Amino acid sequence: MKKILVLEDESNIRSFVVINLRRSGFEPIEAETGEQALEKLKVNPGICLALLDVMLPDIDGFEVCRRIRASGSKMGIIMLTAKNQEIDKVTGLMTGADDYVTKPFSPAELTARVDALIRRLGIDDDEKSSTEIQSGPFLLNTRNRTLEKDGQRLKLTQIEYMLMKLFMENPGKAMSREDILSAVWGNDFNGELKTVDVNIRRLRIKIENDPTEPEFLTTVWGYGYKWGY
Ligand code: CA
Repeated sequence: MKKILVLEDESNIRSFVVINLRRSGFEPIEAETGEQALEKLKVNPGICLALLDVMLPDIDGFEVCRRIRASGSKMGIIMLTAKNQEIDKVTGLMTGADDYVTKPFSPAELTARVDALIRRLGIDDDEKSSTEIQSGPFLLNTRNRTLEKDGQRLKLTQIEYMLMKLFMENPGKAMSREDILSAVWGNDFNGELKTVDVNIRRLRIKIENDPTEPEFLTTVWGYGYKWGY
């Protein structure tokens, strides 16, 4: 499993990132301060990517980035910047960061950036088992973010992909609409639960043999949905 350093002093954001990285098959290593991050990097040489918050109680994220690069490391670095910190983006990239994500971000956005950077840097470890999830006629590839049904590629939006991944990773588990909303759209998303139903309906049209009688993505009445296969 690829190790990713998560440097963020705000514990709610940190745990949100950690949960979503775990869900995507990564092993997050947490740090609250810049110094702690550098310490963790020292004892975990296998870390391939770092997510660095900028505003920290001790040294800022740019300084951490600078020190990582100064040590000769080529690991992927994504800065987590606050909204409208345009100057931060520029400084971040100049200090050797590869990319940045502006807060607040959705889980889909974060994992898309992480996956993209891992691909770009070629830090893929050919662990086929960790990148493919098979369930009935479905095969989900988390590296290519694709879904096949009986060997046929289905065209999914990013949201539909995230939904499929969530369900296929939790077979047989009833998921509440609230859980689905926060897992796919993020805790900061102020959408309605109806958003979940609308997207599930669209997804069923693509994956079910008969969308009016779903056999894979079933409804748990008064609660949410379940991957029933
Ligand atoms: Ca912060």
